[in-house]
Amino acid sequence: MTTSRQDLLRQLPSVDQVLHQAQDLITEWGHQQVTEQVRLEIDTLRSSMTAQATEETLEAEKAPDFIDQILISIEVKLQQSNANSLIPVFNLTGTILHTNLGRAILPQQAIDAIVIAASSACNLEFDLDSGQRGDRDSHIEALLCELCGAEAVTVVNNNAAAVLLVLNSLALNRQVPVSRGELVEIGGSFRIPEVMQRAPCQLVEVGATNRTHLKDYANAINEQTALLMKVHTSNFSIQGFTKSVSKSELATLAKEHGIPFVVDLGSGNLIDMAQFGLPPEPTARQSLVDGADLITFSGDKLLGGPQCGIIAGRKDLLEQIRRNPLKRALRVDKLTIAALSEVLKLYRHPEKLKQALPTIVHMNRSSADIQAQANRLLPFWSTVMPAQFNCSVQPCDSQVGSGALPISTLPSFAISTLSKNDAEISRLQALARQLPKPVIGRLHDKCFSLDLRCLDDETQFINQLDMLASALNA
Ligand SMILES: *Cc1c(COP(=O)(O)O)cnc(C)c1O
Repeated sequence: MTTSRQDLLRQLPSVDQVLHQAQDLITEWGHQQVTEQVRLEIDTLRSSMTAQATEETLEAEKAPDFIDQILISIEVKLQQSNANSLIPVFNLTGTILHTNLGRAILPQQAIDAIVIAASSACNLEFDLDSGQRGDRDSHIEALLCELCGAEAVTVVNNNAAAVLLVLNSLALNRQVPVSRGELVEIGGSFRIPEVMQRAPCQLVEVGATNRTHLKDYANAINEQTALLMKVHTSNFSIQGFTKSVSKSELATLAKEHGIPFVVDLGSGNLIDMAQFGLPPEPTARQSLVDGADLITFSGDKLLGGPQCGIIAGRKDLLEQIRRNPLKRALRVDKLTIAALSEVLKLYRHPEKLKQALPTIVHMNRSSADIQAQANRLLPFWSTVMPAQFNCSVQPCDSQVGSGALPISTLPSFAISTLSKNDAEISRLQALARQLPKPVIGRLHDKCFSLDLRCLDDETQFINQLDMLASALNA
């Protein structure tokens, strides 16, 4: 028996006919979404049937049950469109603070504080003593002043916002000399010269890429100069025949000319990193001791807190910054303040950091501990890998990431999977990304490598390996 195409087109139900039988879907997803999907589905069916123009008749035992077919199809689509886009992943890239993977993981104390702040009204900008309007900075300012040794502090959306706000507040339409060796680009869209253009202020490049002298800055200063600025070269290092000007020399020069000295620290740690086997980096406190009038740094880099940018330093300059209407546009919300406050309290008690702050916990893991974990997991991993893959535990180097300590690495161990075939190893990498909790590793030279430094939940990792095995065999 054959049914002509025209017959089939005539049998397509109307939107109302389908909706009439879609009560369950409507209860779950709402009338609006279901109606829209039904309309789309009928349109799709109609155009695909019309497109089969060369075939005048369609073979069919009987006309398909269009309504059932439509209901099944839209249920799948509704579920797909409702799936969360932002999901947890295993960061086994070896980069602890991976900007694309969300940087710092918050400590439990901060997560609890976020839940409390989110679930109730709170005194965000309300002074409970006077009953008057308060200032949201008041909840973290004293803590940050104590930890940085600063007179005053404010917090904005991220460090890029902090730099923008400082320049816009203190250097609007005026000149700012910066060393050619410090005109950094951070992860694509943040470039010092471009931020200055938008501040807007005029960048005056001084020195050469590899060498800048104090006299280069001195020669650049004139009545148009608003401030001197030093930028931490967060994600690169210039080696060889180099010279840069120290913070204390720049601070003295700025003072002689009566202009502020600003340092963009980028990562800005609050404690000495040497205890984690990393090269000593100047702390926020040390930069202020060295004479910076203002420093800016990120909350979610080495600090290990929520995304935010911290501006710390002289009280009079911070008052000027707070008066800038842009401050309002760049301010942080109550959730950030709640989380930041808990993270800062951990820094008051540094012994706790090594147990409680995930960024420090991950930095502090010994390579022996990671090696033992890799040896434990290797049998589970190898079993699900096809025979032609060569799996082993290999030493590797982790890095801090996010522009913190760009050239220092932490010795670590990885489960390494090697294949002679490029396509096979890329397929493995892609399938690992499709797991319910995607596994993100590193691919180099036909080798897929999982650095276990940041693997906290071994069981969860093992439990989804069966699914990886099925995907590989499919
Ligand atoms: C990371 C970084 C920034 C940008 O900070 P975000 O918190 O990512 O906005 C700015 N300057 C320097 C030197 C940095 O390292």
